[in-house]
Amino acid sequence: MSDKKSIDVYLKPAGGWDALKSSWHALRDQQVVLKGAGTLLRANQPSGFDCPGCAWPDRNPHSTFEFCENGVKAVANEATSKRVTREFFAEHSVQWLSQQDDHFLEAQGRLTEPMAYDAAGDRYRPIGWDEAFATIAGSLNALASPDEAIFYTSGRTSNEAAFLYQLFVREYGTNNLPDCSNMCHEASGVALTEQLGSGKGSVTLEDFELAEAIFIFGQNPGTNHPRMLAELRDASRRGCRIVAFNPLRERGLERFANPQSPAEMLGGGSTKIASEYYQPRIGGDLAVATALAKVVVERDAVDREFIATHTLGFEEFAASVRAADWDELERESGLSRAQLEEAAGIYIDSRATILCWGMGITQHPRSVATIQMLAALLLLRGNIGKPGAGPCPVRGHSNVQGDRTMGIYEQPSPAFLDRLGAEFDFQPPREHGYDTIGAIEAMHDRRASVFFAMGGNFAAATPDSAHVHEAMRRCELTVHVSTKLNRSHLVHGRQALILPCLGRTEIDLQANGPQAVTVEDSMSMVHLSSGMNPPASDYLLSEPAIVARLAAATLPRSRTPWLWLVEDYDRIRERIAQVISGFEDFNRRVRAPGGFHLHHPGRERVFPTASGKAGFFVHPLSSDSSKSEAPLRLMTVRSHDQYNTTVYGLDDRYRGVHGLRRVCFISTHDLQRLGLRDGEMVDITSLWRDGERTVTGFRLVEYDIPSGCLASYFPETNALVPLEHHAERARTPASKSIPVRLSRSAAA
Ligand code: SF4
Repeated sequence: MSDKKSIDVYLKPAGGWDALKSSWHALRDQQVVLKGAGTLLRANQPSGFDCPGCAWPDRNPHSTFEFCENGVKAVANEATSKRVTREFFAEHSVQWLSQQDDHFLEAQGRLTEPMAYDAAGDRYRPIGWDEAFATIAGSLNALASPDEAIFYTSGRTSNEAAFLYQLFVREYGTNNLPDCSNMCHEASGVALTEQLGSGKGSVTLEDFELAEAIFIFGQNPGTNHPRMLAELRDASRRGCRIVAFNPLRERGLERFANPQSPAEMLGGGSTKIASEYYQPRIGGDLAVATALAKVVVERDAVDREFIATHTLGFEEFAASVRAADWDELERESGLSRAQLEEAAGIYIDSRATILCWGMGITQHPRSVATIQMLAALLLLRGNIGKPGAGPCPVRGHSNVQGDRTMGIYEQPSPAFLDRLGAEFDFQPPREHGYDTIGAIEAMHDRRASVFFAMGGNFAAATPDSAHVHEAMRRCELTVHVSTKLNRSHLVHGRQALILPCLGRTEIDLQANGPQAVTVEDSMSMVHLSSGMNPPASDYLLSEPAIVARLAAATLPRSRTPWLWLVEDYDRIRERIAQVISGFEDFNRRVRAPGGFHLHHPGRERVFPTASGKAGFFVHPLSSDSSKSEAPLRLMTVRSHDQYNTTVYGLDDRYRGVHGLRRVCFISTHDLQRLGLRDGEMVDITSLWRDGERTVTGFRLVEYDIPSGCLASYFPETNALVPLEHHAERARTPASKSIPVRLSRSAAA
């Protein structure tokens, strides 16, 4: 990480020598060069651990180096030799820690023992595990209703911990199980479940080797799923058309030098990734998808046999896209008719196409409509249930998909609850619980007063930061299961506890020996993960053990053998096999090298929707309720030295940013139009019906982004996102489309 604060233009390909240099810096900065290097050799290996970074799947057979630069940062930060000890907490008040930035908090190292907040000293003090569990149990059992408690889950939680956690919460009596999915791919789940009968993507890694075209919407794989670049590189080299739609020019989508290619590394070579790169305006993707579908229908390039056999609603859909007006499509998409027809032509020429998307699609008011239009595009040409084709929502957190599969969902299906109740002999609650936005409102309205988080950084990851912080501070008790110090520990209830857990890279020793957990990646591969390093401290517990001991303390009359189950995680998996469909014979199947693929009905062109068919849905552009008079729209993004709200460093190499976080990317046209200059300091104000929200002191960075569009990093700009500003139906915060204005910083 550079000390200098500077902005330049990055002209090198993504990856390459700079990726190796940055990886070395990450290991050096965490003082784990040798330990880290040894640990990385086990990353994403059949007998190793699953990278605690993103959910991109592992190649099979595995290469020796099955990790990327950002995987190195994730592993180095977990395996770090730095420790946050009781002495650290004794030295620093919560008020002082609250004034430090997220990078500072992350850089302090691993938590070492359970801590309890002492209001008198405004500090965290050590507490024993039994006392901690008794405190939580006491608070939970003192509530008038279990629905006054909220149990949040971050996507790093393993399947075994997630299954036990949802079981505990439901035996306790509530479905208040919000999770980070609510803030990322909930829109994908809502859209695809209604349209195709499954909320997951249907493609596998092998499909990337067979696709003739890969369309990528609202995703920056170079930073958020870096190993995806290797698949795209190989696809590009074999002539597959890669078409990118992203308001920002992202280096990883333009050119990539594979650090694992001696030819590219020694020969200074690289591979062009996107054959076509379009920059729609923020929120323009529904118009883009509608235009592509219009061209396909008008050129009659549809798969009539597939449509007739497997779908419903085609005629009405076709009529609606034929009626779409080109002027409106150009205006709403920010692209020209020629560009849209060119892209549609590439789509039509391809006999097998994969559509990928990320948060740039899901975090918008009309994201469900956009995703259903993208899926309709696939249905028009039968691009599902055949090799090299299908929908591919690329998940963020390493097990976010697995957690949902294990029952972490505030709206569980009756069938799931029936199976769970039958297996564990209790009556699960049937009333749906709070999602993330609902949980915030409930804490703010004092309808909920106990907040328990299994991982994550709720106070930083959520929108409308000031409102969320107020809500969490109104709680009687806040509890965080974490590996590292973060903002949420400092935004606490009257009572607060930090429970430190084992990391993915660490040995999880239970009564029956070292234990492995399982995760499910973005392409429904379920596989084992076993740590190899000694725990960062002797006082850490595994996530499953934390849940089991909490359940035993809170539910003394429960018939579930909590402590026995965590003596050997095979026992948990045997119960999962009884409750979760697709996990039959779980323990044997998951021990196969690389694990097993969870069946996706769409791969057989089976669509378990209400009608038993895949659906075409009409989504006219006109009914865009999110339009506002705001002069600009801002999207929150990650830097290259960041994973979700975890800030590893202050550089964003591919965008030319060094040593800075409070930056705002803006077009040359808007600088001139607004009378502002590159490098000038501004305040950003979001405009919403309930008022204005402002963040101050952002440096303008002239960048290749469409006029009217801005981009800045989260969590710093999450404060601008009104709680009510979310996706229709899915309630995913609309963090990629915030109506704002700029003003010169008073501080400047
Ligand atoms: S692509 Fe994702 S899962 Fe793979 S090594 Fe990189 S960060 Fe980890």
